[in-house]
Amino acid sequence: MSTSAHLPAEPVQAPAGAARSGGTVTDRLIDANLLYAAGFDDPGMDARPVLRVAVVACMDARLDLHDALGLSLGDCHTIRNAGGVVTDDVIRSLTISQRALGTRSVVLIHHTGCGLESLTEEFRHELEMEVGQRPAWAVEAFRDVDQDVRQSMQRIRTSPFLPHTDDVRGFVFDVKTGLLREIDPSA
Ligand SMILES: [Zn+2]
Repeated sequence: MSTSAHLPAEPVQAPAGAARSGGTVTDRLIDANLLYAAGFDDPGMDARPVLRVAVVACMDARLDLHDALGLSLGDCHTIRNAGGVVTDDVIRSLTISQRALGTRSVVLIHHTGCGLESLTEEFRHELEMEVGQRPAWAVEAFRDVDQDVRQSMQRIRTSPFLPHTDDVRGFVFDVKTGLLREIDPSA
């Protein structure tokens, strides 16, 4: 079976541009992908990151990892979540990254103005009150971003699953200037 989900199935009455402007954000992304694929050449890479580095970062929309770090397609693994927190699932991804796909370095990036600084673990309690079930995960809210980067570095260095923990460095990205500030793990 073949479908063309990205193309309108019925004749459009309005000009194509107008029709698309009424679409969802996902429709817009699919349109952008058509343009991307039209100019895409198979780079012929395998799945191992060229620079043998994994970057763990917050999901924040203002942090463009590839631009901010001068990365190109295929260079690194990017592992992102709310806060750039080193959760068990991040350890899972890093373990696969190092043991199966050859990465050796880890870069941790938190940032200024993170949404997690305005949350508390009370968030979980409120969730439980609303939906009748307490989430299994911690919110991992923090007040001191530097300290949270240190804790994240420590979680990686002490993980029994990760064979390569010599080159683990942590940073805070300033969303106003675009600059990284390195965090001293021992401070
Ligand atoms: Zn954030």
